[in-house]
Amino acid sequence: RTVYVNGDFLPEEDAKISIFDRGFVFADGVYEVSSVLEGKLVDNTAHLLRLERSLNELKMEAPASGAEITAIMQKLIALNGLQEGLVYLQVTRGAADRDFGFPKDVNPSLVMFTQAKSLLNSPAAEKGIKVIFVDDIRWGRRDIKTIQLLAPVLAKQAASEAEKDDAWLVMDGLVTEGSSNNAYIVKDDQIITRKLSNDILHGITRKAVLSLAEEVGLKVIERSFTPQEAQEADEAFITSASTFVFPVVEIEHTSIGKGSPGPISKRLREIYIKQALETLE
Ligand code: PLP
Repeated sequence: RTVYVNGDFLPEEDAKISIFDRGFVFADGVYEVSSVLEGKLVDNTAHLLRLERSLNELKMEAPASGAEITAIMQKLIALNGLQEGLVYLQVTRGAADRDFGFPKDVNPSLVMFTQAKSLLNSPAAEKGIKVIFVDDIRWGRRDIKTIQLLAPVLAKQAASEAEKDDAWLVMDGLVTEGSSNNAYIVKDDQIITRKLSNDILHGITRKAVLSLAEEVGLKVIERSFTPQEAQEADEAFITSASTFVFPVVEIEHTSIGKGSPGPISKRLREIYIKQALETLE
């Protein structure tokens, strides 16, 4: 696999980053994950706008313009012959002797790699996923897509040890989101999901799915919901760039609806994928 590191396209075994890189030492960096279908990027302009916002919030310099970053992503996709999967990109504040405050005169680091993955045909989309609840122990700025991901690492590990697929995070008696996705329930044909704030990541897939839902006449209510409401919902689902829409069929040992993917979740997945394929970048 060819990867990209600070200006160079290299075989992954030859790629190098300093041990003083602030991403490595402080998790002082941000990232984006964009999906690829038919060798092209899905909703990537929106991902790069969010990257710009994450960088601004952390007063971090952009390593390149949006157009330059897109060109690098497209070249990497081509070099790897990637048809379907993900492009991961990470920007850190750069390499400098260890000291908490921002270093002067360092260049930000930019790295990218691709991952081949079957996104359109996935067993999880067909069967639905099972989730557990875990405490949301993350910091107060979940709207910034930082690379400090220990909380989701622990959440996914807890799910895996419970032989489930993922975890939904709970703060102050309310569900915030999934460990790496936004969380939704459906009750009486209404889609309910937490409103945007610093408490959750502003999902690019969330935005697209909610506007498609409204276009086809589904009612969307942006409000928080409790774990109990989730367990009593007619349907539940998650969204993210790497899953699109996955139905949730079990929440903390309780079957949701009939225990199989619900009609609204399935329809949203279909219309999201249709739009993605029509608007590849
Ligand atoms: N919420 C969290 C915590 C995430 O990590 C992610 C994606 O990685 C999402 C939501 C979904 O965001 P997107 O749809 O932009 O992939």
